[in-house]
Amino acid sequence: MAVPKKKVSRSRRDMRRAHDSLASQARGECPNCGELKRPHHVCPSCGFYNDREVVEIDTIA
Ligand SMILES: [Zn+2]
Repeated sequence: MAVPKKKVSRSRRDMRRAHDSLASQARGECPNCGELKRPHHVCPSCGFYNDREVVEIDTIA
């Protein structure tokens, strides 16, 4: 329920916001190339998923 802004003390407001920060993104090592990648995602550097290449990586420049 909405509460008038003045009624909430600085302390209470800041305690509520203590949990507002974003959690850091999960990262894991790619078993193929060792690069950090997100779990359950194709590796962006080698295109591997589940020990096989599923996406071709452009090697331009
Ligand atoms: Zn990889």
